[in-house]
Amino acid sequence: MLRREDRVQYLRGVGEKRAAQLAKLGIVTVEDLLRFYPRDYIDYSSPCGVLEAPYETPCVVRATVYSRQPPARISGGRMLYRVSAGDESAGLTITFFNSPWAAERLLPGRDYLFYGRVGGGFGRREMTAPVFLPADGPQRMTAIYHQTQGINSAYLAKLVAAALSELEPDALEDPLDEPLRARWRLPDLATALRWIHQPADKTQAQQARRRFAFEELFCLELGMKLLRSRNRLAAGAPMTHCDPGAFYAALPFSPTGAQRRAVAEIAADFCGAAPMNRLLQGDVGSGKTLVAAAGIAMAAANGYQSVLMAPTEILARQHAETLDRMLGPLGVRVALLTGSVKGRARKGLLSAIASGEAQLVVGTHAVLGEAVQFAHLGFAVVDEQHRFGVRQRGLLAGKAQHPHLLVMSATPIPRTLSLLLFGELDVSVLDELPPGRTPVRTIAVGSGLRGRMYGFLEKQIAAGRQVFVVCPLIEQEEGAGAELQAVTAYKETVAERLLPGRRIGLLHGRMKPAEKEEVMRRFAAGEIDLLCSTTVVEVGVDVPNASVMVIENAERYGLSALHQLRGRVGRGAAESFCILVSDKDNESVRERLAFLCRTADGFAVAQYDLEHRGPGDFFGRRQHGLPTLRVADVAADAAMIETAAKEAGDLLAADPDLAAHPALRGALARLFDAAGGTAVN
Ligand code: ADP
Ligand code: MG
Repeated sequence: MLRREDRVQYLRGVGEKRAAQLAKLGIVTVEDLLRFYPRDYIDYSSPCGVLEAPYETPCVVRATVYSRQPPARISGGRMLYRVSAGDESAGLTITFFNSPWAAERLLPGRDYLFYGRVGGGFGRREMTAPVFLPADGPQRMTAIYHQTQGINSAYLAKLVAAALSELEPDALEDPLDEPLRARWRLPDLATALRWIHQPADKTQAQQARRRFAFEELFCLELGMKLLRSRNRLAAGAPMTHCDPGAFYAALPFSPTGAQRRAVAEIAADFCGAAPMNRLLQGDVGSGKTLVAAAGIAMAAANGYQSVLMAPTEILARQHAETLDRMLGPLGVRVALLTGSVKGRARKGLLSAIASGEAQLVVGTHAVLGEAVQFAHLGFAVVDEQHRFGVRQRGLLAGKAQHPHLLVMSATPIPRTLSLLLFGELDVSVLDELPPGRTPVRTIAVGSGLRGRMYGFLEKQIAAGRQVFVVCPLIEQEEGAGAELQAVTAYKETVAERLLPGRRIGLLHGRMKPAEKEEVMRRFAAGEIDLLCSTTVVEVGVDVPNASVMVIENAERYGLSALHQLRGRVGRGAAESFCILVSDKDNESVRERLAFLCRTADGFAVAQYDLEHRGPGDFFGRRQHGLPTLRVADVAADAAMIETAAKEAGDLLAADPDLAAHPALRGALARLFDAAGGTAVN
């Protein structure tokens, strides 16, 4: 009898070579095999007739075999096997190459169900190498698996069948217990495995899929909540007086209600017994920096250092300046540490950090370096989190005995997704923009209007405003579509030609950091009228005098990314514009851009992306350490995510370390181990 953890080599038909090929699919143990769910099914239950079969679309056709033609040798030495079949509506020629055994299994006079694509011209229908079953057989659904070199779907189906029949009866402990399954009407593990691999009908396949989707989401939520509660056990940087009053008093404006709320949540965490793990979500321009600054001021008042990590040098520098302006009056000393600070300056900085003289260190990844030692770090802030992974956050937190951690994200994420991506964090949301903002007017145009658009840009510049133009490529790359605007060429052939006499700047990721700094500094100082850039300006840069954002080849970006870019303007009092340039004349692109034109709310934009482009835009930004979802669909299963999160919370409240749920504990350990994470010990 087989056990769950047995290697697949125990199964008949799996030698060393096959085992290696299976391993490429992630299948090493019997459990891996059983958890390798089909990607789809062939449903033999409602076949169509030959004439009505859709053209060149996978379908099941019922036909009677009339005769087998003698094999014929064709070019390349291949053998051709033809079988004539059909029904009362039309004839169907079935062709196999090099596989006599397939043709020989088709007996004249019998009916079969053929699965494949029907092609051929009028009056002459044909199928090449279809999969087939006798029409009077018992099986009505067949699983289709992802295939790889040497491993085809039929072989996998056979292996799974063997595993299912040879498994010890109690080899599978169900990670979902009876009451939970009963509550959500989920089939048990053994049943669900049979149903997902060998369903009798569509309903069984759907029920099984639903169960595994739930299991995935439930385990993911549990894993993240465990991560969080483990962090909770360790001591933080305890603080006693957390009053932002003095900080607020020194500001030139009054914080928004949302900012005050977020600061109060941080203050409460600071004064709690455990380290803070908090995500601050807020649309571009919602004023996240101020919230971080309030936290930094409170930490400093309690004698702790803070660190703020930004994804780019430009942004780090800007933050250092802004924070120095906000915190300087309170006597907080700010230091800027980036990769380009070298030699003696760097040494001086490092010793100021080590002595505690630098109370706030702002920097890029450089702050993660081993040479950077803090005297007493109490508060760590990560700006624009999506550029950092879980691991880097861990490194940052490791710079001290569990400092309070604030992660700031300007990519609004739909709630269900933030449960999945950031389930281990508490969340504060800035859902209110500072007063006096006029929404950015957004329009979509074709490149035919570029001349007129530049006329408009000229007027804006003449009125003293500045302009961003974002292009997708740095230089024209070979193979990239000619219609893609390369930023270097664009500057010379478009911007400089259409705006003679204006000061045009260039910014892209391949420039040296010092060059980028200089260009950005000049733009911020008003010495550049129009900045041609790649998406390096996407993140955080603040130039209040910029009033127009032009995005060339706008179809290339997700709406969330476009929304981010749009957020670079509209920061001052003047009316601002975002112009999306695209020649893609395709329904979905036009609809997408139109949606952005009429929607200012970043959360709505993110929801649209999630529904229309899937979660990739969000997931791609988070490096792993989390198990991947095989069955669950974060857009379609949104309600289930909420359910799973709630169930996970309830379970941990009753059984914090899962002592009473050994099967679940084991499943979690395997899941997070495979992903390289460490949710459970
Ligand atoms: P983001 O959330 O995108 O990081 P920032 O922190 O850069 O936003 O803030 C955007 C702009 O809004 C900055 O110029 C900042 O000075 C300004 N700002 C922030 N909070 C307020 C407020 N309460 N009242 C007025 N202006 C504010
Ligand atoms: Mg910001």
